[in-house]
Amino acid sequence: MTKMTAKYFKDADEARRHLESIRWPDGPICPHCGGFERIHKVAGKSHRAGLYACRDCNGHFTVTVGTVFERSKIPLNVWFQAVYLLCCSKKGMSSKQLERMLGVTYKTAWFMTHRIREAMREGTFGPMGGAGKIVEADETFIGGKEKNKHVGQRKRGNLGGKGKEAVLSLVERDGKVRSQHVPDVSAKTLRPILNAQIEKNSFLVTDGEGQYRIIGPDFAKHETVNHSINEYVRGDVHTNTVEGYFSILKRGITGTYHHVSQAHLKRYLGEFDFRYNYREALGYDDLARTTQALKGIEGKRLTYGGPAAAKA
Ligand SMILES: [Zn+2]
Repeated sequence: MTKMTAKYFKDADEARRHLESIRWPDGPICPHCGGFERIHKVAGKSHRAGLYACRDCNGHFTVTVGTVFERSKIPLNVWFQAVYLLCCSKKGMSSKQLERMLGVTYKTAWFMTHRIREAMREGTFGPMGGAGKIVEADETFIGGKEKNKHVGQRKRGNLGGKGKEAVLSLVERDGKVRSQHVPDVSAKTLRPILNAQIEKNSFLVTDGEGQYRIIGPDFAKHETVNHSINEYVRGDVHTNTVEGYFSILKRGITGTYHHVSQAHLKRYLGEFDFRYNYREALGYDDLARTTQALKGIEGKRLTYGGPAAAKA
């Protein structure tokens, strides 16, 4: 909190100017026609602050058009505070906590966190890994009743009726993570995902579960660690990176969010992936991570039928 000293956390006009510098480093771009050469600022007290006009299409716009902030009644600097808080909290931040910290209603806090999560979600991307790169793949299970938690860990192919959701994560060693909610962890389900998301010439490392023995030969090299005989590291061969990621994810989801509905799980995964991918070790401090999240706001003006129901 002590770092929220920048003016754009305190003043809506400063926040707007800051967002302009992030979204338009080379000057305003018209969201209606893509024009950037014949744009001028609309001055005068009768107009909204930060309004621009485009002579190519005669359209008007501000920097928030087409973003999660469009038409929001929440001041932009309060949005920035929320983005910052979610970006610097390793285990996430519940809507309840945000409600207290920002002094907004619970509905508003809920609405904001879901939209920020959407901004953090990466869009389309090419495969990870490549020649000389190690990619770890593993799965974990989220939710479900306490008494079933350990059962689910072992019964990997069978999740039915336990209320547990399967999550597959792929981590490039010293690089980024990609997580997704999967219906089950059979070879049939996982194989096309690994094939689409990992370069063929990568070195794949997994545990010794059967599905990976089927999938492994699709890649240049595949090694496994055999957890069942207490083997965890054999030189480069380990899944400690992805398991370390799972421990942050699980502590966050069970400790901060308590319950994550199946429908929203992918958004929480996006949030945890985002913080990991823009982590300190890769050169992102809290403010740089916040700027990165603010860059993700375009084209994410979604509405959710939840407690907030588009009221904020
Ligand atoms: Zn235009």
